Amino acid sequence: MDLIDLHTHSTASDGSFSPRALVEYAVKKGAAAIALTDHDTIEGLPEALHVAGAMGLELVPGLEISADHPGGTMHILGYFINPEDPVLGQELNRLQEARRERNPKIIAKLQNLGIPVTYDQVRALAVGQVGRPHIAQAMLQIGAVKTLDEAFKKFLTKGAPAYVEKFRYPPEKAVALIIRAGGVPVLAHPFTLKFASPDELRGHVSALKDQGLKGLECLYSEHSTEQTRRYSLLAADLGLAVTGGTDFHGKNKESVDLLTGYGALRIPYRLLEELKRFQPGF
Ligand code: AMP
Ligand code: FE
Ligand code: FE
Ligand code: ZN
Repeated sequence: MDLIDLHTHSTASDGSFSPRALVEYAVKKGAAAIALTDHDTIEGLPEALHVAGAMGLELVPGLEISADHPGGTMHILGYFINPEDPVLGQELNRLQEARRERNPKIIAKLQNLGIPVTYDQVRALAVGQVGRPHIAQAMLQIGAVKTLDEAFKKFLTKGAPAYVEKFRYPPEKAVALIIRAGGVPVLAHPFTLKFASPDELRGHVSALKDQGLKGLECLYSEHSTEQTRRYSLLAADLGLAVTGGTDFHGKNKESVDLLTGYGALRIPYRLLEELKRFQPGF
């Protein structure tokens, strides 16, 4: 089977592989195609597209926008976006600014909790955008925690003592931005929305579809077989594309590998073919 991975991160956001190294790794693993979907940034795309072109790998230009969803985490993936769209670039700058404003506040909270990480130390751990994963790495570096997961669970995750809110676009704005840039918006890892019932999820996904959503990420590293089945049925029911990805972050999420996730994930090329039909003007 020709395998693909439609959800990956590079050093432009919080992955540990540079865009070039990610493409080289995908080629080494025999991927039929991958999408680069960094958090709130498209800055890794030119390098990834260039290297993929030279190596003959199909690279889908993408991104993953964090949207406002008070009950949980909502991420909206965008595929086939124009990496040179000026409005998209500007609107993403606002989100990057939100991270820049928030990081020092998180660090100040950690310092008040007796954890002496500094902004300079954290900055030095990032190549592109600085985020919580780099703060977690800094905590690991000074021995304040034993794992990155512990840093999140005890300090950095929503509800934990060093958590700080940040500005996000409403979901409909994230969807509209992706469409404006010629892309196809897809709702990422639906389980993180934390809806109490399947009906509630259905209502929200259906409303997002009315706003332009085109797909649902049904195959995902952390989805159980049952979740994959339920999300796929929902997608079919609503006429949405089924997509899949591992959320590869390299060594920043060590147990998740490209193409296979925790080991069992298989995402067939056919899903990418179907997704292409949702492009504007296809
Ligand atoms: P930020 O963009 O600064 O809000 O950081 C969010 C990122 O942190 C997510 O994209 C994940 O990659 C990462 N993350 C969230 N929870 C965890 C966790 N428990 N362990 C490791 N990384 C995490
Ligand atoms: Fe991430
Ligand atoms: Fe995500
Ligand atoms: Zn992701």
